[in-house]
Amino acid sequence: MSVSITTGKLAVLAGRHPLIVGVLGSLMAIVVMAISLITLLASRDATVDHAHETSRNVTAVLVSNIARTIETSDNSLRALVASQNKPAIQTMDPGLRHELLFDRTAAEYVTGMGVTDDRGRLIDGCCSSAHTWDFSDRDYFITHRQSAKVGLYVSSVYRARSRPGAQSIAMTRRISRPDGSFGGVAIVAIDVEYFKQLLAKLDVGPNGVTAIVRTDGTLVARNPPISHDRLVNLGNSPTFPRMVNHDSGFYAAPSISDGVMRLYTFQRVPGTPLIAVIAPAENDVLASWKRLSWIVGISASSVSLAFCTVVWLLAFALRDHAKAQELLRELTQTDPLTGLKNRRALDHVLENEWGRLQRSDGSLSLLFVDADNFKQYNDTHGHAQGDIALKHLAECINRHVRRRGDLAARYGGEEFVVVLPNTDKTGAAQIAEAIRQEVERARPAVSSGALPHFTVSIGCATGRRSCPSSLDELTNSADLALYAAKKNGRNAVVSAGDIIAPAQPQG
Ligand code: GH3
Ligand code: MG
Ligand code: MG
Repeated sequence: MSVSITTGKLAVLAGRHPLIVGVLGSLMAIVVMAISLITLLASRDATVDHAHETSRNVTAVLVSNIARTIETSDNSLRALVASQNKPAIQTMDPGLRHELLFDRTAAEYVTGMGVTDDRGRLIDGCCSSAHTWDFSDRDYFITHRQSAKVGLYVSSVYRARSRPGAQSIAMTRRISRPDGSFGGVAIVAIDVEYFKQLLAKLDVGPNGVTAIVRTDGTLVARNPPISHDRLVNLGNSPTFPRMVNHDSGFYAAPSISDGVMRLYTFQRVPGTPLIAVIAPAENDVLASWKRLSWIVGISASSVSLAFCTVVWLLAFALRDHAKAQELLRELTQTDPLTGLKNRRALDHVLENEWGRLQRSDGSLSLLFVDADNFKQYNDTHGHAQGDIALKHLAECINRHVRRRGDLAARYGGEEFVVVLPNTDKTGAAQIAEAIRQEVERARPAVSSGALPHFTVSIGCATGRRSCPSSLDELTNSADLALYAAKKNGRNAVVSAGDIIAPAQPQG
């Protein structure tokens, strides 16, 4: 029951305010779109977070591989350095010493191993021909000669002299003489190919990049490899300082070599200037998310659009329905000949005004207007002319019933009633007299000339709270006043007493 009442009220509201219903429907559609958008953005963040997590794990594995390689190489270096100041080793048979220091320690990725004197000349080593190599121009030699405190030094990439075309990086330690002076450098050279192979094993999507870079911005290895003419120093990238200044991190930036937007995860190999970088392309990471976004976006937009269309159509249909109902209600309350309110509407208004009168200190006046000798008028001028006269009478009445709350109604036949809330006896009599005079005076044009003359008689009655005691008594008083006006010769206005006395018992 209450549901149907609420639905009914909603229908009325919708009928009166279709715009509100349409706007509310549109707002709901916008909310649905907003929720879809927020969900998609959250899912995008989750996808990026997941990619970051994966990259971090891969980077950690890569770093641990490189760190183990460097640790093994450093162990060899420490053994080499220690051997240089041990007389027992130095006085050994050269062949035996060579085998002890180099042949058994060299791992697969080590392309060269040796020690130089204080002028950079290789004095002992392996993995190369018996050439007398001079490494005094290498960065590691210069660095160790300048300072005794460098410890393990990882060189930049260089072209190996012993293997034309190949590239290496060197792990080096300084050899200090017993007095602390520079005695040379111990070297373990690692093939750059080893790093490339490490990177090639990692899958970072079709447009992703894996790399090992030095803190000076030079590339040690990169997958996919980059051609020399496009080789760039990453140190020029505005985002590179982040890698140098933090042990690990994550950021998104366009690549300075190919402009592709990538999600960079980096981690420093502890104790070295090497940084491992895993950078899947943002487009690869978000590919499936983008597909999902298109599907969700198109679906949500279509559903929202369809919802909006239906809501607006419904709103306008409700408005039309309400308009039709309003028109119907108007028709059921209107007299078709004169356009005034009919008896049904009059009864309703009278009940309301009477109820209101009982709650106020105001007054309520009624005018009963009746055309004089109208039967004869019809007989003389015809029924059609009589209709025109009644319409004219309605217009006259309407012209004098102008206040808000006033009502003019056709009671039936040639009788009319005027309801005048908050109007006292004097005011009611004035209005009645004005109506009477206008009907008597005005002669509107009709097809046969001027409208034949006719007059009206008007009975007035005014009531106050509890006086008379009922609405029927008030209407009876007005009727009696009208009757008196007819008795007085017609074309007259007669008012009942100031305060209507209760009706006398009949008989
Ligand atoms: P009185 O002055 O005493 O009121 O006399 P009367 O002739 O006006 O009163 P009576 O009640 O005898 O006649 C009313 C006439 O009003 C009868 C009828 O022909 C006429 N009438 C009622 N309704 C209509 C209408 O809609 N159109 C026309 N043309 N005449 C109507
Ligand atoms: Mg009559
Ligand atoms: Mg009459």
